[in-house]
Amino acid sequence: MLKTFEDYRKENYLVNSYQVAINKKWCMQTTCSTCGAMRLREFLFECATKNELKETDKDELKRTTPFYPRTSNMPKEIQDIVIKNHKNELSKIKNELEDIQRCFNDDMNSVLIRDFKMFLRFIIMDIWDSMRNGLTWNQKLAELKMNIDSKDVHDLVDEMEEHYYNH
Ligand SMILES: [Zn+2]
Repeated sequence: MLKTFEDYRKENYLVNSYQVAINKKWCMQTTCSTCGAMRLREFLFECATKNELKETDKDELKRTTPFYPRTSNMPKEIQDIVIKNHKNELSKIKNELEDIQRCFNDDMNSVLIRDFKMFLRFIIMDIWDSMRNGLTWNQKLAELKMNIDSKDVHDLVDEMEEHYYNH
């Protein structure tokens, strides 16, 4: 049986976050220099850490981390938690990218074609920007893809890489 939009939202916080971001008209631009897409970053951070960090841990991080909760600014052990959980959600997308996209368009009853891929690029860039210095390009790519068990997402990373090289 085909999954419904509700099924996808419940099983994957990335799908849910995208829906929330659209409804609330949050900025989703990776490189936004005006707001830094901070509303979306805060929401994603909450999703990724809700079973792993206590409120008191977060209060402490808020106090000590500039640009809280931008993943790349977090201490390494917190980054690891966020990235592990983002990758876990990315791995749930199994030959379903088109179907999730279709569900979005049906649900929003929208004339605009929503681009869930664009949102996934935001997540991929968030992981990329958080990776440590001193790796070669290929090492970074391998580390990025590591523990993401989804051909859809690997293809998306390859597309992004091609785009980067051709511009
Ligand atoms: Zn912005």
